[in-house]
Amino acid sequence: MNNDCIFCKIVSGDIPGAIVYRDEQATAFRDINPVAPTHILIVPNRHIESVSTLEPADEPLMGHLFTVARGLAEKEGIDKTGYRLISNHGADGGQTVFHLHVHLIGGQRMKHPMG
Ligand code: 5GP
Ligand code: ZN
Repeated sequence: MNNDCIFCKIVSGDIPGAIVYRDEQATAFRDINPVAPTHILIVPNRHIESVSTLEPADEPLMGHLFTVARGLAEKEGIDKTGYRLISNHGADGGQTVFHLHVHLIGGQRMKHPMG
């Protein structure tokens, strides 16, 4: 737990979040500023700043974030229509919260190109 990290505080329950999924490794909650009808953030429970600080031992955890995303997409009813998974890293990536997270966005047709 990083005491300065807003997502650590949501995971620990110190500040409220609209939590939609939780297990020993990961927590998912609705983005406070949704950009689509479904906008959920999937985070590791442990504080990991970004992909830049990942270790080889984190590979199962990173895969787990994607299977959680898959399950949530089904629960949200967007698995057939499709969705987008985004993970921003560092300044040029547009990361604003430095606790690794995957955005699950769907319920509308996404625009291209990215960037
Ligand atoms: P990033 O820009 O780092 O990829 O994404 C951070 C996301 O966290 C943004 O989409 C932003 O709306 C969301 N966010 C920031 N603060 C909070 C918060 O306190 N609660 C929730 N639920 N989402 C937040
Ligand atoms: Zn954190």
